[in-house]
Amino acid sequence: MKFNTKTIHGGQENIDPAYNSVMPPIYQTSTYAQSTPGGHKGFEYSRSGNPTRSALEKSVASLENGNYGLAFGSGLAAIDAVLKLLKPGDEVISTSDLYGGTYRLFTGIFEDFGIKFHFIGMSEAKNIENYVNDHTKLIWVETPTNPMMNIIDLEAVAKISNKHEILLAVDNTFATPYLQQPLAIGADIVMHSATKYLGGHSDVVMGVLAVKEEALASRLYFIQNASGAVAGPQDSFLVLRGIKTLHLRMQRHCENGKAVGEFLNRHPKVDKVYWPGLPSHPNHEIAKRQMKDFGGMVSFTTKDNSLSGAISFLEKLKVFTLAESLGGVESLAGHPASMTHASIPKEEREKLGVVDSLIRLSVGVEDEQDLLEDLKQALG
Ligand SMILES: *Cc1c(COP(=O)(O)O)cnc(C)c1O
Repeated sequence: MKFNTKTIHGGQENIDPAYNSVMPPIYQTSTYAQSTPGGHKGFEYSRSGNPTRSALEKSVASLENGNYGLAFGSGLAAIDAVLKLLKPGDEVISTSDLYGGTYRLFTGIFEDFGIKFHFIGMSEAKNIENYVNDHTKLIWVETPTNPMMNIIDLEAVAKISNKHEILLAVDNTFATPYLQQPLAIGADIVMHSATKYLGGHSDVVMGVLAVKEEALASRLYFIQNASGAVAGPQDSFLVLRGIKTLHLRMQRHCENGKAVGEFLNRHPKVDKVYWPGLPSHPNHEIAKRQMKDFGGMVSFTTKDNSLSGAISFLEKLKVFTLAESLGGVESLAGHPASMTHASIPKEEREKLGVVDSLIRLSVGVEDEQDLLEDLKQALG
């Protein structure tokens, strides 16, 4: 089955044996009647399993070329489950340019449980080798990164993780399986904030994992059930519905992302544009090889490089909405320095490139001309 068919049918065989409904019903139930103790039809209690959630989990597994999917109450709950594979004394090597909430979970919670984190640059995958030792159990990679859109060579990282038999987990939220499928090139775990592109309509918070290997899947399933941060049936239905148009939405996100990236790159008031589709992007060649297209996330800075300029731009936008989050059908604009990255001291922030005039756009699927005109009037 090709990807554009998988979004609609992947893992969805025999989804409603009772009435053959085309979409899975929302099984809004906590429990299931048993004919005799243990006599059930595969579901006993909805933390352990729910048919609507199960339909979504199978869809996610199919999209990511995995054999197993798991759905959680948020992206961070999914990451939390992965970290619970570890024990005190274990070490993790992670990208330094990381989603803020992931960094907070690693350093604010798991460090206290005796897990050691190395946050490093992975533009040169070889750098990872400098941090590998007998305690290294997990490599955590995000690509493209937020908000600087750095691209990490997953194939090169997978070579290192496989050589040392270290688990490799990839946060695939920004790219989606439409653009890249890390399990197919050697990753062990793929994670998504389904809140973003998979759900795609800014109406649900959810996280998912996809894995290939059975032993790893059953340990993660144990953690999902034991810790209990599961996705609800209504939300599972919404994300499954979103996934059915993932390929259509991503195609337009990429087209509009290209139009916006190139427009900004030509604009006299714009200084730097961070979009991997530009030949001037430092990781353009890796992006071209690794991703099917370049996505709809674009960051940029202005030449005046002032906070007041950035604020005035954001306040003038009419089609783009000033808001946190990304990946929905509507275009959003954010100001990392005062929003997502405000907790990082200014000096540290600026080392990462998160200067006061940096704007991050999640380019939606509206009409291209309307989006460009909105940016033009807000920059003017
Ligand atoms: C939003 C996001 C998360 C966290 O997901 P939630 O659903 O908000 O818990 C993790 N990684 C990335 C890249 C994200 O954008």
